[in-house]
Amino acid sequence: MKHVFGPISSKRLGQSLGVDLLPSKSCTWNCIYCQLGRTKQFVSERSEFYPKEEIVEEILQAVEAQKGIDWITFVGSGETTLYKGIGWIVRELKRSTAIPVAVITNGSLLHLPEVREELLETDAVLPSLNAGSEALFDRIDRPAPGFTFQQHIEGLRRFRQEYSGKLWVEVMLIAGLNDTDEALADLADVLADIRPDTVHLVLPTRPAAEGSVSMPDGDRIRRAVFILSKAAPVVHPAKGEMELGSTENLLETVTRIAVRHPLQERELEAALGKLFPGGQPRVQEEMASMFSTGRFEKVCQGGELYWVIKS
Ligand code: SF4
Repeated sequence: MKHVFGPISSKRLGQSLGVDLLPSKSCTWNCIYCQLGRTKQFVSERSEFYPKEEIVEEILQAVEAQKGIDWITFVGSGETTLYKGIGWIVRELKRSTAIPVAVITNGSLLHLPEVREELLETDAVLPSLNAGSEALFDRIDRPAPGFTFQQHIEGLRRFRQEYSGKLWVEVMLIAGLNDTDEALADLADVLADIRPDTVHLVLPTRPAAEGSVSMPDGDRIRRAVFILSKAAPVVHPAKGEMELGSTENLLETVTRIAVRHPLQERELEAALGKLFPGGQPRVQEEMASMFSTGRFEKVCQGGELYWVIKS
């Protein structure tokens, strides 16, 4: 198979059959975190890189041969929407299979009406948004000349207005760049304007184009979840799970964390559950005891309860 790979198991999309529409690497951006290495030559013009009939045939063969596919996902060797005719492919799939279709994209071409139109019949679109300011956008995504931050945001905003499927915005969180409080607040403002269904935090877990890219620590991930959830519910990576270490000085441990960022009550409960396995009543007892000290108050944000230090 030339265009189809998998299915691969994905946290967000279950058993996901991947479809790559592009020759490697064809992209409008040159992200510092890219797993495909640096973009040697930008591609900005859309094209039907391979015959669309050939691609549809391959997908349908794979769907026929492999049971249990949850999503057909367009993703691959660059910016997916550079493929001119993706809308035709989606329509053909919709005529032949009930499996939902997702598109992973950097979103850089959504300012073009014809690109937005081609994605309308998909079930989910997962565009990137890694920065809430032009300066950070340029540092992280390093777009081709002519692609601007404002154009990117406007494309996302317009797409949201026209699209009734799931809009799941992906944020790649990078230590020291977009994981600061200021950068996250800017990002939350922009996201609130776009109104995605959810925000998916992703981490640079794989080798990146630039060696300087590194993972944020658990504290920064939790801080990001808290700040971005002002804009939309945040789906965050398991790598950010909270660890409390040991049962000794639990109140102090929890207080130290809460001083740095609000603690999601659900996460606290899960972390305590690891220390007191099988002891849910004990976990509740510990939480009640800590809360009764009067150090914390509860705030609700994005449908989640957080413990914050009383000012
Ligand atoms: S948009 Fe995707 S493919 Fe393009 S450079 Fe960034 S990470 Fe790589």
